[in-house]
Amino acid sequence: MKSIKEIYEDFDRIGCLTFATVTKDGYPETRIAHLFAWDEEGLYFLTMNHKPFARQLREGGKLSICGMSSNTQSTVDEKMLPSFEAGYTMKATGDVKEVSLEEIRKKSEINPLFLTGVNDYDRYRDEIFFCLYRFWGEKYDFDFELEHRNHKLIRNYFTYGGYQKEFSGMKIDQKMCIRCGACFSRCAEYNFHAVQKTEEGYAIDTRRCDVCGNCTLVCPVGAISGY
Ligand code: SF4
Ligand code: SF4
Repeated sequence: MKSIKEIYEDFDRIGCLTFATVTKDGYPETRIAHLFAWDEEGLYFLTMNHKPFARQLREGGKLSICGMSSNTQSTVDEKMLPSFEAGYTMKATGDVKEVSLEEIRKKSEINPLFLTGVNDYDRYRDEIFFCLYRFWGEKYDFDFELEHRNHKLIRNYFTYGGYQKEFSGMKIDQKMCIRCGACFSRCAEYNFHAVQKTEEGYAIDTRRCDVCGNCTLVCPVGAISGY
């Protein structure tokens, strides 16, 4: 499981992130922002008091953030299909709470990251601070062109602040499986190599699986299911 420092650093390498909340009409709404600090209480960001973003955070208390590492640019080949340099996307979803300026000032005395909040407040006096303090998330590390390894994905799931979540994914019903190996070959063809062959039979490693569904299309007995 990743530490809060590692989670922050992975987000920070991306820089600008998409921050999603829900409007009072029940629609998702996004904007671009960034995290400016972390400590053992969570991840910190700021916004202006009178923005709908702040109201939605106060009323809903929930937030989802995501971003993609900046060295990744999609290009299109002769078949108009996209290709990506190796990189990662990162997301976290959970609960937020407001943090007072006094608390941010206090934290800045022992952690220079919080000086961003203090000094920015000096420029923009309507600023307020929030902490994403309990969340789950994922780092989706991709190498679709197999530049650095022989399989496309490494998916790292994490939780923080006591968030309870079970990470599920594609799975094989061992009672139905007839050990034909078709899913193993199909997944290998796509270079995910998520279907593993063990002494007991076949199993799916969810850290490598993209939930592309191709294995389900070749299973003769319908033994593979998802989420
Ligand atoms: S869903 Fe796709 S990636 Fe996952 S095991 Fe099946 S073929 Fe492999
Ligand atoms: S394709 Fe279906 S029956 Fe064959 S090994 Fe995979 S899960 Fe089992």
